[in-house]
Amino acid sequence: MWNFWKKRMQTGLLTEHPELETQQHTIAKTLKDQVKRHFAGSLAIRMVDSGSCNACEAECNALSNPYYALERLGIHFVASPRHADVMLLSGVVTANMWPYVMDCYEQLPAPKWVIALGDCPTNLSVFDKTFAIQGPVGESLPIAHIIPGCPPDPLTIMQGMLDFLSLLETQNIEHSEC
Ligand code: SF4
Repeated sequence: MWNFWKKRMQTGLLTEHPELETQQHTIAKTLKDQVKRHFAGSLAIRMVDSGSCNACEAECNALSNPYYALERLGIHFVASPRHADVMLLSGVVTANMWPYVMDCYEQLPAPKWVIALGDCPTNLSVFDKTFAIQGPVGESLPIAHIIPGCPPDPLTIMQGMLDFLSLLETQNIEHSEC
């Protein structure tokens, strides 16, 4: 599989926008360094879809493909909140999903952070508030960082994660000793 992508990169099919390529390499390198610094090289993320249109998830899924290959930077998506450092929350947070979102948050071991993926969790994006929607959740859930966009593309998500890690840096939070 890797040989397939390597060949495509060598033939230029993935390098039509060299500036994006350079930007991606720079973000990836810094991200890897920051994950090493703050999370001993392994940042675990529990993704929660609280009622999204699925576009945010599709962009997030792209991070696992051989081009972005987020795992090589030490960032892993995990199945249990008990194994996670961060909850990545997408969607408008429907009333039906709200108890599960809170359950997930409570099960994250401290110190824990919530990152809002896309515009939905904090401002509902293209959706209107109805009786079936609990969000926006900014006041009821401590959102540490927002990755804006509708949906944010993979590079924006990587940059958003980097901004979150830089935030930890400014707050002087060291997690790597844990
Ligand atoms: S932010 Fe936009 S793309 Fe993401 S779930 Fe909401 S409507 Fe969909």
